[in-house]
Amino acid sequence: MTTLLEPGQIPQASGEPPRVLLPDAKDVFAHRARRFAQLADGHSLGDYLGFMGRLARAQQRALDAMPAVPVPDDAAKSQSHQHGMPLVPAQSWPPDAAWRTALRAILAELAPAASEAAAATVQSLQSLDDAALDALAGRVLRTELYGEQADRLPFVAAALQLYWTKLAVQLGAAAIAPIDVPGVCPCCGGLPSVSVIGASPEVPGLRYLHCSLCNTEWNLTRAKCTACDAPESSVAYQHIEGDNGLVQAETCDVCKSYLKLVRRDKDASADPVADDLATLALDILVDESGFSRSGPNLLLVPGGG
Ligand SMILES: [Zn+2]
Ligand SMILES: [Zn+2]
Repeated sequence: MTTLLEPGQIPQASGEPPRVLLPDAKDVFAHRARRFAQLADGHSLGDYLGFMGRLARAQQRALDAMPAVPVPDDAAKSQSHQHGMPLVPAQSWPPDAAWRTALRAILAELAPAASEAAAATVQSLQSLDDAALDALAGRVLRTELYGEQADRLPFVAAALQLYWTKLAVQLGAAAIAPIDVPGVCPCCGGLPSVSVIGASPEVPGLRYLHCSLCNTEWNLTRAKCTACDAPESSVAYQHIEGDNGLVQAETCDVCKSYLKLVRRDKDASADPVADDLATLALDILVDESGFSRSGPNLLLVPGGG
């Protein structure tokens, strides 16, 4: 696309659904914390989900405390719009020092309640200097989640998530224009962690992709593969037998990928991140049938759980 658009001038016919839904900065992580707590009750991974709930609570507090962060100026925004690029690309927009302040606040809050294993990871992160933390941030932002010390990355990702959430909210929905690649986040270029039906009460039957980094949600036609654009005929849905189908896996026979679909229209308390981590059994089921997940959950240690 080459049309030069100013913020607030993004064409959108009245009656069309919003292209992007921004997170509610005051509640996005607090809502997630409440959902983790709800899901932890009676769950076989209850201790883990309970800890993730405390992590989400710490994310909300760190976001509440974060001052305004630098965002692109108007010239940079116009340039991104002209080239159909995200405004604050995870791979090239440098986070300022506020992200490390957020990480250290999260670690300080979690340390007293952490299990032995998590406490060791928290302490190892607390001993790192700025350069070492920035190096870990680079791995998360390039989605290099495997390898040495992968157990540290979810904490780093938690801080980066709230930093990028802050960026998205400061930029505002009107500034976030469609980009050339419909399967990645128009704000930060991140991959979706899941898609959501009924993302908000105003859009009950529509599908939005949920960004794994900045919590922005963007509209995408419902019945096609989010990874390769294959049509509805190639797409199938699976869920764990006997559950209520709140979380399903949308599999594609063309590219052999899958992404989970969270049906917030069935239960408005569902959360894209918490419900994803509470349904790892579904990932195992779909992996075993030969599909690979097309977008990450940055809070998950690969192979660790
Ligand atoms: Zn994003
Ligand atoms: Zn596909």
